[in-house]
Amino acid sequence: MNMDIQPKRTGLSFEIFPPKRTASVASIYCALADLRKLSPDFISVTYGAGGSNQGRQTLEIVNAVRNHYDMTAVAHMPCISMTRDEAARQLADFRQAGVDRVLALRGDLPADGSIPAGDFSHASDLVSFIRGLEGFENFRIYAACYPERHPDSPDWEADIRHLKLKVDAGVDGLITQLFFTNSLFYEFMDRIRSAGIDVPVEAGIMPVINSRQIERMVQLCKASLPEKFCCVMEKYRDNPEAMFQIGCAYAVDQIIDLAAHGVDGIHLYTMNNPLVAARIHESVRAVLGR
Ligand code: FAD
Repeated sequence: MNMDIQPKRTGLSFEIFPPKRTASVASIYCALADLRKLSPDFISVTYGAGGSNQGRQTLEIVNAVRNHYDMTAVAHMPCISMTRDEAARQLADFRQAGVDRVLALRGDLPADGSIPAGDFSHASDLVSFIRGLEGFENFRIYAACYPERHPDSPDWEADIRHLKLKVDAGVDGLITQLFFTNSLFYEFMDRIRSAGIDVPVEAGIMPVINSRQIERMVQLCKASLPEKFCCVMEKYRDNPEAMFQIGCAYAVDQIIDLAAHGVDGIHLYTMNNPLVAARIHESVRAVLGR
C-alpha cells in the first residue's frame, strides 16, 4: 500500500483593501507584515470604482506589497468608468512599480441605472485591451467568476458563455466571488469545465467574524447562506470572541473540504484582519501542503 499521502500544494492568496477614509494607508502596513509570515502566493488589493484617489491608494499599496514586503502583488482594476488612455496610464503605473499582475474587472454599475462614460462595457474588453497593449505581454491577468452566477446574468447559459469569452480574451486564472456552500462551487466547476474553461480557479473564502459583515456581504455579493450557518450566527452574534471562533472554524471547514476536492487555490478575503488569516492558516497549512 502506498503510504505517501503528501497533499498536493494548494494555492493560497489574500485580499486586502485600502483603508477607509478614517484610517491612514500606513495602518495597512502592519497587516502586511503579519500576512507576509504566512507566505501567500500573492496579495490582491481592491480598487474602488469611484474616483482616481482609489487608484492611487491601490497603487501605493501594491507598490508596498511588491517592493517593501517582497511579496507578489495583484492590483484589482475595475474598468467601467475608465477611458482607454486612463487604463493605459494605470497599467503603466503598475508596471513601473514592478507589479505585473492585475485582476481585470468591470466594476459595479451605478445603482441609479446610469451608464458610466468609460470606454469599456465588460471586463473582457479590458482583458482584450491589455492583451493588445505593447509592453504588457508578460502581464498575468486574473478575472472574477461567480459560483452562484453574476446577479446581472439572466441564466447560467449566458453567465458561462460570457465567462468563456472573457477567459478566451486572455485570462490566466479566475478568482471566485465568496461563497458559503461548497456544493454550489462544485456544480459551478462542473459547468465551467464542461464549457471548456480550463484555467486555474481560486475559491474565494470569507471568514465571517461579525454579524454586520454578513448582512453587508450578502447584500453586496448576493451569496446565499446555509441555514446552519445563520442559526449559529444568530445565537452568538453579540459575543465577539465566539463569533471569531465560529467564523474561523466555518472557513477552515470549507477549506478542508475544498482541498480534499482538489481545488486549485484558496483566496481568503481577509478584511484586513491578519489575526483571522493567521488562525485559519495555522489550521489548514498541512492540508494545503504548505
Ligand atoms: P463582467 O465579467 O463584465 O460580467 C458582468 C456581467 O456582464 C455578467 O452578468 C456577465 O455575464 C455579463 N457580460 C459579460 N460580458 C458580456 C457581453 N459581452 N455581453 C453581455 N453581457 C456580458 N469591484 C470593484 O469595483 N473593485 C474591486 O476591487 C473588486 N474586486 C473584486 C474581486 C473579486 C474576486 C470579485 C468576484 C469581484 C470584485 N469586484 C470588485 C466586483 C465586480 O466589479 C462586480 O461583481 C461587477 O458587477 C462585475 O465585474 P466582472 O469583472 O465580473 O464583470
